[in-house]
Amino acid sequence: MSHDPVDVIALTRDLVAIPSITGDEAAVARWVAQWLTARRWRVTLQDVADGRFNVWATPGDGAPSAASDGGVTMSTHLDTVPPYIAPRLTDGRLWGRGACDAKGIAAAMLTAADRLVASGERRVGLLFVVGEERGSDGAIAANHLPTRSRYLINGEPTESRLASGAKGSLRVLVRTSGREAHSAYPALGRSAIVALLDLLVRLPSLSWPTDPVLGETTVNIGLIRGGTAPNVIPGAAEADLLVRVVSDVRAVQRVLDAWGAGTAHIEYGAYVPAQHLHTIADFAADVVA
Ligand SMILES: [Zn+2]
Repeated sequence: MSHDPVDVIALTRDLVAIPSITGDEAAVARWVAQWLTARRWRVTLQDVADGRFNVWATPGDGAPSAASDGGVTMSTHLDTVPPYIAPRLTDGRLWGRGACDAKGIAAAMLTAADRLVASGERRVGLLFVVGEERGSDGAIAANHLPTRSRYLINGEPTESRLASGAKGSLRVLVRTSGREAHSAYPALGRSAIVALLDLLVRLPSLSWPTDPVLGETTVNIGLIRGGTAPNVIPGAAEADLLVRVVSDVRAVQRVLDAWGAGTAHIEYGAYVPAQHLHTIADFAADVVA
């Protein structure tokens, strides 16, 4: 009974039917664990926080780490963004929250892994994490699992293409200061807003790093704040930038430091490095956002 063929559409619908908005994933994780246990997988529930847990599974014989030694772990997330939308199958399409991101992928992985094991392959593991849509606390916890899997295939909607890489991101706060004065006496003041605007319009024409796979560094000027009143020459102004990084972050910081030198104070905030991912010849690949 343990290797009846899996109906992947029905499995996806079952997963979508269980609400699992980030923070409330226990029910779906328990359901997946039971599904795997019934098909003789060895399941580890890894505590993440507040009664939430990741599901890690390896073929039913042998210790979890040994069974997937040197093999492949297929992984995706079980949480969704809000609101919950119940599954509905119409005209051969399955609709519902998470059908695409990522419960359809989870069902495909469960089905594929089950088939692999049925055919005698043991070097396969499954990892379903929680919290992906908000801070990835499940993925961070999963780093502590004692797996010795050699490869991890991470499932995300990418139009059925392999992801060859992802741009990183760097938050930047730019501040300029001036000298306040009444607008009737411009010679007595110095505008922080004009100084900031002068800098911001030059941003696109700077010599930013590029990468053959990831493409160009891009910069978004997301927020601007500054000034006191219409009749006051502004004494302070600032802008929040988000840089999508394709290179070593220090190369980006050198460009910005030179750009702002003598005019602005620059603070660097949250940073996520750019990533290059493994691809396979003859399998369509693309950079993901
Ligand atoms: Zn996702």
